[in-house]
Amino acid sequence: MSRTVYVNGAYLPEHEATVSIFDRGFLMADGVYEVTSVLDGKLIDFDGHAVRLERSLNELDMRTPIDKDDLLEVHRELVKRNGIEEGLVYLQITRGAPADRDFAFPDPDATEPTVVLFTQNKPGLAASPAAQKGMKVISIEDIRWGRRDIKTVQLLYPSMGKMMAKKAGADDAWMVQDGHVTEGTSNNAYIVKGNKIITRPRSNDILHGITRAAVLRFAEEAQMIVEERLFTIEEAKEADEAFITSASTFVMPVVEIDGVALGDGTPGKVAPRLREIYLDESRKAAI
Ligand code: PMP
Repeated sequence: MSRTVYVNGAYLPEHEATVSIFDRGFLMADGVYEVTSVLDGKLIDFDGHAVRLERSLNELDMRTPIDKDDLLEVHRELVKRNGIEEGLVYLQITRGAPADRDFAFPDPDATEPTVVLFTQNKPGLAASPAAQKGMKVISIEDIRWGRRDIKTVQLLYPSMGKMMAKKAGADDAWMVQDGHVTEGTSNNAYIVKGNKIITRPRSNDILHGITRAAVLRFAEEAQMIVEERLFTIEEAKEADEAFITSASTFVMPVVEIDGVALGDGTPGKVAPRLREIYLDESRKAAI
């Protein structure tokens, strides 16, 4: 069945939706995005994603073409029209399609940003078998640009990282800079040592995950100890547990790093507990 998608103010069947070949998202990866998950037909952490979107746009001197209330309305309308119970809403805003290709930004008064949203139906997203089993990761060098805090659509290296992982028989890659783990290709990274949850502090080196913020808050509310500091890949291999967070995976245990099993090689106690808390609390707060 054809999806209904949203392009620049119009709801269209997916095969009728088009964007110009001059769009700067296409030519220069000059665009930002957000992914919001849907559980029980409702949006998880919508406010957090809307706030980060605004920040990404501001950091790139891009105009905000749609206000938060309208954005919420479009998200809800797409969820409704496509009958999504569990899945995702993908949103992308680019600097639009000027008349010619040029490195300089176009005049924002003359070029409308492009706004695209579509849904991805993912039945069973919350009851994921991968969460029971845990994931295997490899480590790769982090060679991305220096503004990873902006959620841009330049995803070639993360995409290559996933392929490197796949080739190595793993599920994902953790990126390493100066010996320290930055984050996963599309998620934030954590290790657990004793009673402490350790994760890299926010900076320009990582994306400030919306799921990360919620999970750290829930962890502290549950009296767990959170330490925001750098950790090396060696330290990670000696950890009791590890996990990742993202809007599309929630909290997912990591059971192996570069072929080294963590603990007994099965998900520990902390990650599954945090997943349960995150899912419960997020369902309650979903809109
Ligand atoms: N880091 C990177 C590099 C990501 O791509 C993502 C997800 N897009 C995250 C972290 C997790 O962010 P969030 O929890 O907001 O999905």
